[in-house]
Amino acid sequence: MQVVNPATEEPIAELEQAGVEETDAAVARAKAAFPAWRAVTPSDRARLLRRLATLVEENGEELAQIETRNVGKPISDSRGEVGMVADVFHFYAGAVDKHHGETIPVAGGVDMTFREPLGVVGLIVPWNFPLNISSWKLGPALACGNTVVLKPAELTPLSAMRLAELALEAGIPEGVVNVVVGKGSIVGQRFVEHPDVAKIGFTGSTEVGRMVMEGAAATIKRVTLELGGKSANVIFADADLEAAAAAAPYAVFGNAGQDCCARSRILVERSAYDRFLDLLVEATRDVKVGDPEDDSTEMGPLISAEQREKVESFVDGEPLFRGDAPDGKGFWFPCTLVEASNDDRVARDEVFGPVAAVIPFADEGEAIRLANDTPYGLSGSIWTENGARALRVARAIDTGVLSINANSSVRVQTPFGGFKQSGFGRELGMHALAGYSEIKNVFVAT
Ligand code: NAD
Repeated sequence: MQVVNPATEEPIAELEQAGVEETDAAVARAKAAFPAWRAVTPSDRARLLRRLATLVEENGEELAQIETRNVGKPISDSRGEVGMVADVFHFYAGAVDKHHGETIPVAGGVDMTFREPLGVVGLIVPWNFPLNISSWKLGPALACGNTVVLKPAELTPLSAMRLAELALEAGIPEGVVNVVVGKGSIVGQRFVEHPDVAKIGFTGSTEVGRMVMEGAAATIKRVTLELGGKSANVIFADADLEAAAAAAPYAVFGNAGQDCCARSRILVERSAYDRFLDLLVEATRDVKVGDPEDDSTEMGPLISAEQREKVESFVDGEPLFRGDAPDGKGFWFPCTLVEASNDDRVARDEVFGPVAAVIPFADEGEAIRLANDTPYGLSGSIWTENGARALRVARAIDTGVLSINANSSVRVQTPFGGFKQSGFGRELGMHALAGYSEIKNVFVAT
């Protein structure tokens, strides 16, 4: 298969696609490597993960260049993401010997729990943050003593392949980390069906997540699902409107809107609506769209022509604002703001492109109702100078990750994941370890 640079439409690599046979061979290698890997001492396993983190740092610029050329993401974003990948492996190196069991008071003896690895885990990753999301799964999976088969998305396999090479170079034994490049409907599907795969860690669309969950039922596989989102950025009239407006474009146009955490519904209190809209349009005008390899670029192209067509279908009528984007080659789409009601398609479906719906609300009660009026529940932000209101609203919104007077969703140390149809299970932080281990209870009669 051909891998294309979405900013130039030029091919950058040709790869052979794996089929079922190659997938089975990778699972067999991972299975064979499991007993020795789970037996590696905690200190040594931590040392290997730490070495991988260091190699990611040492090869950071190369990894960032691969990611930018393959995904079209601005190079400054790619550098930031590679930095997070290194931090993720440092964190899980430190977590290896801090994820431990309990002793529980019972009658007649001593009771204790162990955290056992699952075995071979199948990791399925989307195209929007290929390296980052691979690391979020690899870090805790390896720290717990599992071996892995990882399937990057068809459009963006290159950085995961390089990461697997670095894992070998770090001294992680052959067979522990396997990358299988191929179609979701073949390789991914085979992971889901395979009797020797104990768990699927999936990030992708809600639609495919549903199929993964159905397929996993046959072998009672464990699954964690990190799925789509339609997050709200709630702006109250008592917020620092300048700060909220300056941040809002980056909360939805980052990664060209191809972000599960995109705050693609901007809910604005009616009494501040006109003022906020003026500020928002000004701030959106400032987003620098263009060559992803330029250090100052803030937004690159979409991933594919197909994605651009899908995004375009969400804009009908005159938008509130439409920015500039390069002409010619590349899958470009401008930053676009549209006025909407929460019932419009642009406010209900995940656009996965740089289109934000701006929606007015009357009061706090309506803001909460609108924020929750979606099948998704991944992320969101609340902007207000009233601390009690900020916490009241945060508790009332059904979503996995919220930020107050900020846009951030992911941090290495904190749990990340969805409510409702945004999925279940948590990545990052110590919480992710629960998804890659099984609790065993042992009783000793005394
Ligand atoms: P996708 O669901 O189309 O594909 C995700 C992965 O699943 C790819 O590797 C794909 O090859 C594989 N796949 C496809 N069909 C499969 C099947 N039948 N069985 C097993 N695997 C299969 O998603 P995408 O278009 O690559 O990514 C965009 C989506 O991912 C968006 O919905 C976005 O919100 C979501 N996402 C979620 C998070 C999160 O953490 N919640 C993060 C990033 C992206």
